[in-house]
Amino acid sequence: MKNSIFAEGAAYVRGRFVPIADATLPVTDWGFTRSDVVYDVVHVFRGGFFRLADHLDRFERSMAKRRIRPPEDRAAIEAILHRCVALTGLVDAYVAMVASRGRPRVAGSRRPADCENHLIAYALPWIDVVPKDVQARGAHVFIASTPRVPDASVDPTVKNYQWNDLTSGLLEAHDADFDTAVLCDAQGFLTEGPGFNVFLVKDGRVTTPDRGSLEGITRRSVLELCTELGIEAAVEPIPRSALDHADEVFLATTAGGVMPASRIGTRILGNDRPGPISMRLKDTYWRKHEEGWHRTPVRALEAEA
Ligand code: PLP
Repeated sequence: MKNSIFAEGAAYVRGRFVPIADATLPVTDWGFTRSDVVYDVVHVFRGGFFRLADHLDRFERSMAKRRIRPPEDRAAIEAILHRCVALTGLVDAYVAMVASRGRPRVAGSRRPADCENHLIAYALPWIDVVPKDVQARGAHVFIASTPRVPDASVDPTVKNYQWNDLTSGLLEAHDADFDTAVLCDAQGFLTEGPGFNVFLVKDGRVTTPDRGSLEGITRRSVLELCTELGIEAAVEPIPRSALDHADEVFLATTAGGVMPASRIGTRILGNDRPGPISMRLKDTYWRKHEEGWHRTPVRALEAEA
């Protein structure tokens, strides 16, 4: 498959499968002009989707909350994701499903209900939100001054393209020579970062914010692993000041897994390396992937015909 036209990625857009470079949208699509989109991302590890049903469940919930209904049903969406991956021949992949409001059927209409909702999907070679070498030394995480948008304005449990606050956090982080950022809300509680949930470890106890955050599938996996490993864990309010006392910090996302930090703001954690509980969770997360945890094998192209 190395030389196939799909080697760089395969997409499904406007009902057709195309090489990723040919996957384009009209500039008047509200997905573009309004960020009026919900989406989800699942990874493929060694030929198998991880927690595919959970990602499809969340995607369906996001679509329902934003009242975006593309014509494809869940079974069709699932088949499209399999086909996108199979076309690329990738065994490790980043796989996105996107539902856009689309364009008004009635020219000039400003009514969301007049729009033709549509599905986009694509598979790309594996992506790490934090590069692997940075994960190995521990990410340097900036505490952004930009507040996370209020939950009452943009529901953070709906996976969406409103990223201005998260991107501002990233710009701040890169200006200060950090790898990435976490954001607090206007009340001073920790939320999440550009593309990941955040966890703190203090005296052997693991916590993650109860607000301003996506209910991450990796976060769920981490909480399950904590139960399995006998580590106390909770989803709870975390004031920004908790970052001044945390023993360890780690980030969690589909595109990278459990990603330890070694610095948070001006603090150097431990010995400037990933902490032991973060590493235990990271190692267990990937070991269980190898053992077939929550795995759905990618169907071959012939099986889809
Ligand atoms: N928070 C945000 C803003 C994200 O974009 C993501 C994933 O892309 C996450 C958290 C982590 O969610 P998941 O573990 O389901 O990938």
